[in-house]
Amino acid sequence: MYRYELHLHTAPVSRCAVGTVKETVEFYASMGYDGIFITNHFLDGNIRIDPGVPYKEQLEFYFADYEAAAKEGVRLGIKVFDGVELSYLGTDFLIYGLHKDWYMKHPEIMEMGKREELALLAEHGAYIVHAHPFREAGYIDHIRLYPRSVHAVESTNAARLDSENLMAHLYAEQYGLPELAGSDNHWAGNVKTLAGMECPRPLDSVEDFISAAVNGELRPFIIKLQ
Ligand SMILES: [Zn+2]
Ligand SMILES: [Zn+2]
Repeated sequence: MYRYELHLHTAPVSRCAVGTVKETVEFYASMGYDGIFITNHFLDGNIRIDPGVPYKEQLEFYFADYEAAAKEGVRLGIKVFDGVELSYLGTDFLIYGLHKDWYMKHPEIMEMGKREELALLAEHGAYIVHAHPFREAGYIDHIRLYPRSVHAVESTNAARLDSENLMAHLYAEQYGLPELAGSDNHWAGNVKTLAGMECPRPLDSVEDFISAAVNGELRPFIIKLQ
């Protein structure tokens, strides 16, 4: 089986991340993963850059961790794919399938409401996953669901409570949405649990990953480390 991490943050781009790019890629290579997706907090989320900086400059900063990770990946023999985690008041979406050049051409997304933005992303080929939909935290006013705006639900998040994951599973099941697993790792190797998806064949691109997800070729896995 070929294993993939779908939900991963690195420092310095994600303000809440502790693991550096190098530590993170080295850790997943040492765990024998075939590939990882770098899904840092986007310009609408917990990114370590002044929001007053011009859009394109912010994007260059945003993709710098992915680009550095891709170089490390070549060195260490692990595939590194690009992704994005969008945020709206504590409601988060993982976006796969759109790349830096697309975001460069679409600064208007920063002005859109999330429903409108997600529709535009989907129209341009994005695969959209509602991350930890039942997460609760002091800074989240209330739980918001977008069942008609997403392709899948992250119903196993290694950083969340079992009760929150169970609610996500029930939600996905009732709405007929596919379920995915990810670690939401912010700490490189300093984690208790990893969750991800595995595939009987190697995935060669983000587009290949999306077709495997759509065709039901992926299965979740959990690794307990501590
Ligand atoms: Zn974070
Ligand atoms: Zn995340």
